Formats: sequence, structure tokens, C-alpha cells
Amino acid sequence: MSRPLRAQVAEVARHLHDRGWVANHDGNVTARDGSQFIATPTATSKRQVGDRGLITVDAKGAVVGAGKVFGEIGLHLVVYERRPDIHCVVHAHPPYATAIAATRGNPIERPFIAEALVSLGPKIPKIPYAQPGDAAKQALAPWCEFVDAAILGNHGVIAWGADPEQALLRLELVEHLARIAIEAVPLGGVEPLPQGAIMPLLQARAKANIGRAADRAVETADKLLGETSQMQTVVACAPAPHANVATMSPSGQKHDLAAVVREEIVRALRKS
Ligand SMILES: [Zn+2]
Repeated sequence: MSRPLRAQVAEVARHLHDRGWVANHDGNVTARDGSQFIATPTATSKRQVGDRGLITVDAKGAVVGAGKVFGEIGLHLVVYERRPDIHCVVHAHPPYATAIAATRGNPIERPFIAEALVSLGPKIPKIPYAQPGDAAKQALAPWCEFVDAAILGNHGVIAWGADPEQALLRLELVEHLARIAIEAVPLGGVEPLPQGAIMPLLQARAKANIGRAADRAVETADKLLGETSQMQTVVACAPAPHANVATMSPSGQKHDLAAVVREEIVRALRKS
């Protein structure tokens, strides 16, 4: 028989502290318990969380019984609202992933390790910073159905799973990928998996039935990776560098065409 849910939540919370993924009162863990949710209390170091100190909230985030709920509860509730298959949400500020959250770019957005793609899906989005509360909740909402973890811009990481163990493993994997991506910078940075490798890996993910996102992974992969595909099309159809034509990415950012072409050549040479 598995351990009581409260004990699992408290254990995950202490683990966040043991791994150095939270400081001060940072981070929070919740688990679905019927129509209510078990949650870590606010203003408490995750080092000190025991099953008895956990609180209970309803679907609107109101405390049932004693205790005070943390301010980021809305981020957890929006995941549960949109993902009936999810029973635990974990949020922390692990240093490598939070370094990515707090700087420009997102080197772990596109998968560069096959196993990670199977576990986390086709994309780890970085959601632009939004003020805590409704704005942050609304920013996360559209991603809930499509991914199992996200980087919160200028904030940290949030991950969810079918149980506390899976949610924790996903957060751990995001931090591990972030560390690899950062350690790879002196070597030229990580190289995303080739486009042709993505679909078979997503099919493996769907076959393994890893979360509801997996069921939809194949159909949504094109949407999620659309920006990259469009960028490749732009490069492929671009006029010669001497034509001096600026290209525009779907995000509206202008690129120096010569630089884009040069990068493609450098990449091709590296592969040969
Ligand atoms: Zn936070």
C-alpha cells in the first residue's frame, strides 16, 4: 500500500529544500484529495514541513479548517482545473532553471535529449513574467493541457504529475536539463534533436501513456513547434545574402539574414 498522501506531500516539500531548489519560504506543493487539495502552508521553510503542518483548501483556494494558504495557490488550481489527470503540482526556484527564467532566451525550450522529450513532451515553455495572482494564472492557463512543466519568467519552475513522485521527477528533469544546457554553453550550447526525430519520440510518449498531454502530444506538436518550423522555412526560402533583405521571425524580431545564413553554414559544417 502506498504511503498516505499527506506524508508524500510533506516528503516532496522537504526534498525541495534538501536539493537546494528553494530558499527562505520559497516553493509550494499541493495534491488533489477528492474535491479538496492538500497544500504546504505559507511562510514556512520547506525544511520544516511535516504532515501535521499541511493545510487543506477547496477548489477556489479558500482554507478549510486552520492555516494560511500561500499566494501562488492560483497557479496550482488552474492546472487542476484544466487537467483532471493531474493529482500533484510542485513549484520551486531551482538555481539552473531559475537562471534561465531570469535571463533572456530559453535553451531548454526545444528537446535536445530523447528521453526528456518522452517524459516532458515537445516543449518546455518559458512563460513571460506576469504579476502574482490572476495575471500569472491567466498566463499559465493556456499551457496546462499541452505540457507537463513550464518555466515561469523571472520566477521559477512549475511541474505537475499524476502523483507527487511524478510531479517531483518532472521538476527534477527540468532542472537537470537546465544545468546541462548551461554547462554546454562553453562547448557551443546544446543542439536540439533533429526535426525528424520528434514525431517518433512523441508517438513513443503517447504509447507509454504518460499523462493526458501525451494523448494530445502528437496532434499539438506541430502547433507547439510551429515557430521553429516557420523559421526554417524563412531560411530555406531566403534570397542570397547580398540581396540585403531582413527576415522576420514569427515573434516579430528582425534578423540579419547574413547572420542567419552564416549560422546555418556553421551548423552544417559542425555536423559534417
Ligand atoms: Zn515562487
